[in-house]
Formats: sequence, C-alpha cells, structure tokens
Amino acid sequence: MANTTQVTSGLTSRAAHGSGSWEGTKSVGLNTALVHCGVAPDPTTGAILTPIYQSTTFVQDSIELYCAKGFSYSRSSNPTVKAFEEKLAAVEGGVGACAFSTGMAATCTIIGAFMNAGDHAIITNCSYGGTNRAARVVFTRFGMDFSFVDMSDVNSIIPAIKPNTKLLISESPTNPTLTLCDIRAISDLCKAKNIIHVCDSTFATPVICRPIEHGADITLQSTTKYYDGHNMTVGGAVICATKAHDDAIRFHQNVFGNIMSPQVAFLQLQTCKTMVLRIRQQSETAMTIAQMLKTHPAVEQVRYPGLADHPQKALADRQHRDGLHGGMLWFEVRGGTDAGRRLMNTVRKPWSLCENLGASESIITCPSVMTHANMLREDRLKVGITDGLVRVSCGIEDVADLLVALKSALDVL
Ligand code: PLP
Repeated sequence: MANTTQVTSGLTSRAAHGSGSWEGTKSVGLNTALVHCGVAPDPTTGAILTPIYQSTTFVQDSIELYCAKGFSYSRSSNPTVKAFEEKLAAVEGGVGACAFSTGMAATCTIIGAFMNAGDHAIITNCSYGGTNRAARVVFTRFGMDFSFVDMSDVNSIIPAIKPNTKLLISESPTNPTLTLCDIRAISDLCKAKNIIHVCDSTFATPVICRPIEHGADITLQSTTKYYDGHNMTVGGAVICATKAHDDAIRFHQNVFGNIMSPQVAFLQLQTCKTMVLRIRQQSETAMTIAQMLKTHPAVEQVRYPGLADHPQKALADRQHRDGLHGGMLWFEVRGGTDAGRRLMNTVRKPWSLCENLGASESIITCPSVMTHANMLREDRLKVGITDGLVRVSCGIEDVADLLVALKSALDVL
C-alpha cells in the first residue's frame, strides 16, 4: 500500500536519460524514496548498492584540487555515510542531514552547536532519559540553563521562555509516555521568539510524521530504532530545514568526531528500505495488543495514540499520517510496582525483556530501571513513569503469538 508522503529530492542516477535515469520523475512516494534516494549504481562496477568505503583518507589529484571529489578524511565525510545522509534529508524533507554514531551523539552535537554559556534551552519534561541527563548533568557544567516543561499544551511553554532562550527540544510522541506535542503550534511560537525548534521524531519516524513539514527547524532521529529496525546497529541523525543550521551541525560533528561509521551507514541504508512495511505491521499489532490489554482484568491502564481514549487522540489523528500511530504503547497492571515487575520478569517469547525499541523483535522494557533510570525519581514520577510502568515495542512477529504470551503472563498475576 502506498504511503501518502511524496518526496521530491535526493533521486540520483548515473544516467541522465533513458534506462537507469529518473528522467521526467517529479516526485516519488516514501517507499520508493527509502529504497532509492541517495543511491546510484557504483560508477566503477555498477554495484546496485553503495559500497562500504572503508577508508580513512582519500587521495587527492593535486593540492590545487584538494577535496574536488568531495572527500578528504572519514571523520569529516565518507561516501557511504554521505549516501545515507542524502537519503535521510530526502525522506525527512530537509535540505541536509548529518549521520551520527548514536542518537545521543546527535543530541549533544545540537546542544554544542547552538548553545553558549549563559544560554537557556527548554526541553520537554518527558524526553528520552539520556536527553534529560545530558542537559541536567553535563551541559549545566558549561554554564547553560535548562527548563523541563510539559509540551502537551503549547501555552505551558510560554512562561518558560526567557530572553536568553536559544533552543527548544520537543519529542513527539514522547518516550515512554506517548504524549504528543502540536509541532506546528510550537514551531510558530519558536519562530516568533527566534528560538530553534528541534523535534525528536524517533518514535514517529518519517512514515508517521515529518516535523520539518510542520515547521520544525530540525528533526532529530535515533536511527538505532526504526531506521535500523533489526537490533543490529546504533546511530543518530540531525536533519535541518536550512543550510545554515546544516552547516553548523556538520562543523560541530567534525570538531566532536562523532560521525556514523561507514559499516553502520551501509547497514542502515538497507534496513530503512522496509521501514514503511514494518511500521504498518507494527502499528496494526500495537493496536491489537492495546485493545486486548484494555479488556484484560489484570490491566489498570493502557496508553496508545490509536486508542479512542488517548487524551490527545484528535491531535494524533491530525499529526500522524495514514492513520498510523506506531509500534509503541505502555500499560500498568493492577497490583502496582510488584505486579508490573512480576509481569516483566515472567513474560515468555516472542517477548524479550531489554532496552531498545523499533526493532523486528518485540520488546518489553521497564523504563524506571532501564531507559529512564537516569532521570531524577521525582521528575520521572511527575510525568507518570511509575516504577511498574511496562513499555512495549511491538515487533513484526505474528500478533497471535504475541497475544498468547502476553495474555498468559497477565492471567497468572
Ligand atoms: N531519542 C529517543 C526518543 C530515544 O528513545 C533514544 C534512545 O532510546 C535516543 C534519542 C538516544 O538514541 P541512542 O540510544 O541511539 O543514543
């Protein structure tokens, strides 16, 4: 089935006309873009996949022609990584993209690029735990100031804005509470106040939402998650709407030396081709599991943006494309922390108890001990990440097998 996103850039080919060219093509759908953008047959061999350019340096024809072919040293740029970056920019609707060693490398580079000592940033009060820790524990040491704010209502952001606010980092949906923010409304506010709006869209992916289309300046991705989708690699990406921001990120990436490796770029160039197919199935599975949980007597509360009782259902329907709401959900069982932890300790395969999300394997995570352990406990509880909250990342296994295993763990609680 087609994805309604149309992509108009990033289609490269060796041939200008006829066979092997994109002649006459004005735009392609997201599935086509994920397969083809940024990639052209290898000029020497015709290899259909961009090779892994496993080379530190690139020989120059002369001093005068330094960097004429675009590459000098693989900390600055590498042909395999560049192909992935071109695909990222195209599928996320940016003018450029930088691929990083991890999602956290991407986040820290954004803060390093746009914040100085004495500057202030606003971050969602329910971000990935590592984002919260980086700001609170590391960047405050360099004289930066951070406010953690509920972004589910744009009006609660306004009082947090200070004259020195330079950056706002939103996340939609948030990890793990699945709270959305109105990306358009926040982008409009940021534009009016001259604040850079970065939206972490790791949970949504470009299949469900492209923040730059909603006015965000920058989209942040932990490509470890749905871009990889196979529990195979870690990576991150920063996709910018303007060249000035892209240049600033690229400069700081070179300074910090945290570019993605060519092997990872090669792997993610392949794995992301199936992202739409995976997310369609993962969204369908998540909905079926959420509906089962809603009716199970051992379950206290379930949250999934596709359920009619999600507090931001109208926003989810407006902001999420093609009726898809992703593969993530969470629930709490009756009996509190002990019962929740008992469930996580006993649920059988196909489920696995571990960190990470967005992969082909279905995963159960205990955020209070794993992904969000590095938040202050009181901040964590304030946003609803209780000690017994069960985060679910639906994989691509048969939903019947996932239901049987989860139901049988719930039945004996
Ligand atoms: N952003 C979100 C929403 C995440 O869930 C994560 C990791 O779980 C990150 C950023 C950080 O990504 P990475 O683990 O690739 O460094």
